Amino acid sequence: MPNKKPGFSTLAVHAGAAPDATTGARTTPIYQTASFVFADADHAAALFGLREFGNVYTRITNPTQAVLEERVAALEGGTAALAVASGQAAQMLVFHILMSPGDNFIAAHQLYGGSINQFGHAFGNFGWNVRWADAADPGSFEEQIDGRTRAIFVESLTNPAGLFTDIEAIAAIAHRHGLPFIVDNTLATPYLLRPLEHGADIVVHSLTKFLGGHGNSVGGIIVDGGTFDWSRSGNYPMLSEPRPEYDGIVLHQAFGNTALAVAVRALGLRDLGPSISPFNAFQILTGIETLPLRMQRHSDNALAVATWLRKQKQVAWVNYSGLHDHPNHALQRRYSPKGAGAVFTFGLQVTNGMAAAVVAGTTDETSAAVAAGRLFVEGLQLISHLANIGDTRSLVTHPASTTHRQLTLDQQIAAGAGPEVVRLSIGIEDPDDLIEDIRQALEKI
Ligand SMILES: *Cc1c(COP(=O)(O)O)cnc(C)c1O
Repeated sequence: MPNKKPGFSTLAVHAGAAPDATTGARTTPIYQTASFVFADADHAAALFGLREFGNVYTRITNPTQAVLEERVAALEGGTAALAVASGQAAQMLVFHILMSPGDNFIAAHQLYGGSINQFGHAFGNFGWNVRWADAADPGSFEEQIDGRTRAIFVESLTNPAGLFTDIEAIAAIAHRHGLPFIVDNTLATPYLLRPLEHGADIVVHSLTKFLGGHGNSVGGIIVDGGTFDWSRSGNYPMLSEPRPEYDGIVLHQAFGNTALAVAVRALGLRDLGPSISPFNAFQILTGIETLPLRMQRHSDNALAVATWLRKQKQVAWVNYSGLHDHPNHALQRRYSPKGAGAVFTFGLQVTNGMAAAVVAGTTDETSAAVAAGRLFVEGLQLISHLANIGDTRSLVTHPASTTHRQLTLDQQIAAGAGPEVVRLSIGIEDPDDLIEDIRQALEKI
């Protein structure tokens, strides 16, 4: 398309793909092979020395995976990307390039629960130390930066609370201190919000959620914004110092604004190994073709359900940033004017006198709230009770009896997962059917 830069929906269908050169196949084939034949011995040596790009072994590159990478890089406005086995694997590979034992990074504590575990436990075992800050208070990031800080990490739209982060304010702090700013854009997707346009240097995703979009494949991706100067401080030696296994090349010198994308593949994925299967890459690629249609529908449906929910007598509060009087609404309008996404929480109105207390055989309010939450999720018929978000199907969890059950009551409340809290991921069904399902489940408590 020589005369015009393609729009987002066109990129979602076409970026990175072309009819297959040998067979004419129009859909990207699933290249289900472990390895690829070298043209000759020189070709093999060039590939191993990073002097030429090409396919060697599916742990490191694969043509189906490559289309997925080009497509997500195009949608986010990055220079290059690396697709991997899961969102957690994407995070691990990014930090593996940036951190040495004893270094630290600052992360918002408003994160997906799996990321809180990964940063606090697994990364701690590697000697990579996390310091927690408050996404709603950009100054809390700056206060904790010291000489061993190597990065700042936030979610653009937080899981599970569904609140937008002021990423420009936090990007300014990161750059004032010469630090790369990493944004997890899983809940917003590039359809609603492109963090690289607001100062992020690296974007990560769980492809499992809205990008794949159908709850059928786990995957993750790292997008290189191409904006960060990896050589200036000397703090990122994997990018700025010669690599012995690649004939002494310096990745930042050799690859410029795609150096991070090359490093996470040629050092991280090569040595740590969490590659995505060609089949999962294909499923996710197919899902991305309808991302603009789905994401708008997810957001419109969620607003309809949230608007209805807040009028119900069994509902104490609804925490959806798309509601015009929500405290986070101004940030939503600024960063994501097309919609507020699919994921939000609401609180059940619980009193001692409710049937829930009787069923649970208890009279205190906390137990009544837990019992009410359990009755509610069990009462739903269309909406599925499971641990995922971003499916075409609507999903629900009651965090206090599942993901957050091991925490104390105070910890649950601090995490936004008190006993009365229900989390919804609204799908693309008819909104009237979702409302009817919730109505009948609320009546059961
Ligand atoms: C699910 C999720 C992850 C982890 O992704 P997996 O594909 O499950 O490994 C990371 N961040 C966010 C915001 C998520 O929702």
